[in-house]
Amino acid sequence: MSRAIVTLSATQALSKLRSKEISATELTKAVLERAKQVQVLNLFLEITEAKALEQAAAADAAYAAGNAGTLAGLPLGIKDLFCTAGIKTTAASKMLAPFVPAYESTVTAKLWAAGAVNVGKLNMDEFAMGGSGENSAFGPTRNPWDASRVPGGSSSGSAAAVAAYACFGATGSDTGGSIRQPASFTGTVGIKPTYGRCSRFGMVAFASSLDQAGVFARTTADAALLLQTIAGHDPNDSTSAPLAVPNWVGELGQANLKGLKIGLPKEYFIDALNPVIKDAVMAAAKRFAAEGAELVDVSLPSTPYAVAAYYIVAPAEAASNLARYDGMRYGLRVEGNGLIETYINSRTAGFGDEVKRRIMVGNYALSSGYYDAYYTKAMQVRTLIANEFDAVFKQVDVLFCPTAPSLPFKIGAKANDPVSLYLEDAFTIPASMAGLPGLSVPCGTAHEGDVTLPIGLQMIGPRWQEGRLLQLAQAWEQLRGTFTTPFKIY
Ligand code: GLN
Repeated sequence: MSRAIVTLSATQALSKLRSKEISATELTKAVLERAKQVQVLNLFLEITEAKALEQAAAADAAYAAGNAGTLAGLPLGIKDLFCTAGIKTTAASKMLAPFVPAYESTVTAKLWAAGAVNVGKLNMDEFAMGGSGENSAFGPTRNPWDASRVPGGSSSGSAAAVAAYACFGATGSDTGGSIRQPASFTGTVGIKPTYGRCSRFGMVAFASSLDQAGVFARTTADAALLLQTIAGHDPNDSTSAPLAVPNWVGELGQANLKGLKIGLPKEYFIDALNPVIKDAVMAAAKRFAAEGAELVDVSLPSTPYAVAAYYIVAPAEAASNLARYDGMRYGLRVEGNGLIETYINSRTAGFGDEVKRRIMVGNYALSSGYYDAYYTKAMQVRTLIANEFDAVFKQVDVLFCPTAPSLPFKIGAKANDPVSLYLEDAFTIPASMAGLPGLSVPCGTAHEGDVTLPIGLQMIGPRWQEGRLLQLAQAWEQLRGTFTTPFKIY
């Protein structure tokens, strides 16, 4: 396998494919080899080698015929909650372990229509519940920067595979931070677009009022290209917005930093934030100021309540969405003595601890007598959070803040303390609750002993302003200089 090929950016790889300097088959074989070389990281639940080679051959034929799509021959990874027709889709749960969907999610259908190649289905926290990748029923994903640490979650395999050069980009989903936080933990670019920007058709549902598809890549330009491909209205998902998809790639390079108003929300620079992360984020903001941007201190007072409100709303929706896994229609079935016992046996065997915890919390919060105290209250907090963001975006163009309060931690370090893991999402959950777009871009590294770990800068924008975030992240990449994830053999 040629290291020179797999470490290209997606944009570079596509230009070499277009100029026929490399073939899609050659590129795909190199990526498949790399994916196998880093198998110890547990990135993929399935490497779809035959499918990948078939799609690569089709891409080569399309290049020869002069009708290649925008992503023709580009090897990508898919979070294992996007349904892929004829290919297992497990959501990293024993419940769905044997499930082979009969249809394709809209997001993946768009990627294949553009000519992309499916390297495989990526590991994740079970049903996207988690922030470390440790809740997968098929073992934790490891962080390519230090294999003894978590890569973040729930899109753990997506982030880690992109960082480890096992694919050029990947899909993810973000309900409360599952794209941005693992992007931060792996030194990749991750963008969660505005709620409604992408279709959720064919995505295994966790919390439907929060779930949103997005992408991981090693550069902002690559992320823009991938997001542009998967976004857009879909008649199969009535929550997808009937808006035209802007030309985000074409708009890159247009950021005007002079007079740009960058808000620094004080609730995101708290004591619980690792000072090394704080310094890196502030240094990035100051670098923008040196280019003529104005730094504005702002306040989003309801921020401290976002995690608590999220852990009512998300489990409530999850309890409802996961009621369908009962051993009857599809997925795992463990026979019992009669209907109820079969339900109980199937759900007991099929779901992991975190999923069960959320189903119990969700059903409790929705039960009569508690509904107003918990669910209604949480929804009121959600409205406050959204209103505060709207008010702040009348004063500033964008918010800069840390993506996560801590550096990637050791596997197992928080496994027995769900609440401390929940707090890892304190900076990503608020934008999710408000449905706003958020992006994480690497802004530096930290050192723990002789281990180097990445730090993410989060940018949050007003609704439908993904383009602004992508432009600013790319402007930041130019100010920052090259940032590469380590190419290691484990
Ligand atoms: N870590 C958060 C949770 O466990 C967010 C997950 C997500 O965005 N899917 O719910």
